[in-house]
Amino acid sequence: MDVDDPTPRGGGGGGEPPRIRRLEESVVNRIAAGEVIQRPSSAVKELVENSIDAGASTVSVTVKDGGLKLIQVSDDGHGIRFEDLPILCERHTTSKLSAYEDLQTITSMGFRGEALASMTYVGHVTVTTITEGQLHGYRVSYRDGVMENDPKPCAAVKGTQVMVENLFYNMVARRKTLQNSNDDYPKIVDFISRFAVHHINVNFSCRKHGSNRADVHSASTSSRIDAIRNVYGASVVRDLMEIEVSDENAVDEIFRMDGFISNANYVAKKTTMILFINDRLVDCTSLKRAIEFVYSAILPQASKPFVYMSINLPPEHVDVNIHPTKKEVSLLNQERIIEMIKDAIEEKLMNCNTTRIFQTQAVNTSALTQASTQKEKGTEVSTPTGAKSQKIPSQMVRTDPRDPSGRLHTYWHGQSSNLEKKSDLVSVRNVVRSRRNPKDAGDLSSRHELLTEIDTNLHLGLLDIVKNCTYVGVADEVFALIQHNTRLYLVNVVNVSKELMYQQALCRFGNFNAIQLSEPAPLRELMMMALKDDESISDENDKEKLEIAEVNTEILKENAEMINEYFSIHIDQSGNLTRLPVVLDQYTPDMDRLPEFALTLGNDVTWDVERDCFRTAAAAIGNFYALHPPILPNPSGNGIQLYKKNKDCMASGERDNDSTNTDEDEIDQELLAEAEAAWAQREWTIQHVLFPSMRLFLKPPKSMATDGTFVQVASLEKLYKIFERC
Ligand code: ADP
Ligand code: MG
Repeated sequence: MDVDDPTPRGGGGGGEPPRIRRLEESVVNRIAAGEVIQRPSSAVKELVENSIDAGASTVSVTVKDGGLKLIQVSDDGHGIRFEDLPILCERHTTSKLSAYEDLQTITSMGFRGEALASMTYVGHVTVTTITEGQLHGYRVSYRDGVMENDPKPCAAVKGTQVMVENLFYNMVARRKTLQNSNDDYPKIVDFISRFAVHHINVNFSCRKHGSNRADVHSASTSSRIDAIRNVYGASVVRDLMEIEVSDENAVDEIFRMDGFISNANYVAKKTTMILFINDRLVDCTSLKRAIEFVYSAILPQASKPFVYMSINLPPEHVDVNIHPTKKEVSLLNQERIIEMIKDAIEEKLMNCNTTRIFQTQAVNTSALTQASTQKEKGTEVSTPTGAKSQKIPSQMVRTDPRDPSGRLHTYWHGQSSNLEKKSDLVSVRNVVRSRRNPKDAGDLSSRHELLTEIDTNLHLGLLDIVKNCTYVGVADEVFALIQHNTRLYLVNVVNVSKELMYQQALCRFGNFNAIQLSEPAPLRELMMMALKDDESISDENDKEKLEIAEVNTEILKENAEMINEYFSIHIDQSGNLTRLPVVLDQYTPDMDRLPEFALTLGNDVTWDVERDCFRTAAAAIGNFYALHPPILPNPSGNGIQLYKKNKDCMASGERDNDSTNTDEDEIDQELLAEAEAAWAQREWTIQHVLFPSMRLFLKPPKSMATDGTFVQVASLEKLYKIFERC
């Protein structure tokens, strides 16, 4: 490099910095317009909203070429004053807002005065309007925010007609994209349908230009359900239930929701979510997701819901100004509102849900190493009702041998051959509404105390993490990695799932769906199996073990009625376990842990004090249903060594193939496949069942902040700092 080079500082590598210039106003306006009017359907939405704001009782929409050629919206609203016509289509001219503070209390749909202006920057706009008491109306065309000519007097009926022609004529790329993609007309029909369901006093119609048949035609009515029937058809209405929620705790009610939601009979591949917040048609992705989750959790069919919901909040609780097309709004206390709605839907669905049978599953209570259940085989299981159970990807097996999570875990005993009794229990998950006097059960004060305890112990910081984290992946046998804001945390999956199941056991108390074992499982045998693993009692002392099993079985039989009533754990008169509760929908516990559960239930539950009884029983359920690592060790990485066939089987093989060789045929492929499926299944469940449920239901206790359940491993800021230093 030439040291004498007089290049100014900083100009060495990148050349001269480009000059900064002020954009011409017309360019600015066109850019902004493209944001407000993103596609023909957004123009229709704005125009229809203007009509509603103008107090119209009839709104007619005509569309040509999916709106690219022509959009025409006519209403019978209050019209526009002659004096206002010159500035009607200038940016930021509005009759609805004057001071910024008004935004807090605004109830009209428009407020920015941008919609009409934007349309004139990306299309040709003609307005015809008449105000009350006038003999004639006026017609005027606009281009780039200004009138093209003086308003011309014309004959007009009450109200306003806005015509937008050649939308995006000056935005070549946008026009091309829209022309190539599907026509926007279905979207337009969809918008009008939604408006028709909400604004039941307005007559809406929507048709294609030249067609005499309207695709939406709603007559004003006094009943919401009639409006829905009118637009979506009688078959939809047949499967709807009314729902209402309001904030009972507040002195003066600050939140109210009413609407209609589909019941268990409704079948659809896509969710229809019609959401109005303070009469604005909006999207709220988190609410939609929460609702979808409740449906998928409670109703086993893959059907997506139909939801119409109108939420009313004090205007100052809604920030309407967060999205260029006002499509999304942000709410104060959004989490709590979503929670309340979710609870209400859950209750409705539970009540409407009758007997249903789904998912057959093979359970092998004896051979612990044969951890083979259909669910773990990773196939989609068809149910007796013909509905499909949750799809579990079959290809999700860990194949990367470098995966660090290959260490041996403690559950590997390999003692299956010791177990004599090989009774295969084929369990049919028979969901029987075991609700008996749910009110009585639900009102038990001990249970309330335990629920309050959960609330008092709640750690708000962790709650925020759980609710708003992004799941990254599993880190090893026990930990999963999540990101929250700029921080990464390791979460102990066993601990959180145990707590979640405990809390759910108390929440659903007296109100469980049931997993029916098609063959009763003898408690005594289950306990014996569990005791075999217990090293504190020596193997010779079988008599003592038998006694423990006998006594505990008797205890459980004595308390059978109560645990059935409250926890849906059904034990028949001969001491067989026949039914288990559904603690988390779409989730079945690992049946390999059934023996341990039977023993815990007999041994560790306190039966005489009500509160302790509920706590210990819920804890036993929590422990059984928690997402423990599968009994088969993780085969990835070095773990694969454990799947080598033992020496006896190898005796006839070639001697030099010994020890160091990990040839395919030395590995017990069948067992390996089972293990891989079990681990893949677990990983899938963590991501798709555990974390979504935690987000909705878990109230993390304070102890989890310090007991290693949540461990912060990195903050991105710090990582960036480290990189900067490099
Ligand atoms: P905004 O709705 O945000 O006020 P717009 O650009 O959509 O902005 O409309 C500008 C103004 O034009 C409105 O404030 C309203 O006074 C008037 N206007 C628009 N459409 C109609 C209509 N269909 N009937 C009566 N007035 C209308
Ligand atoms: Mg508007």
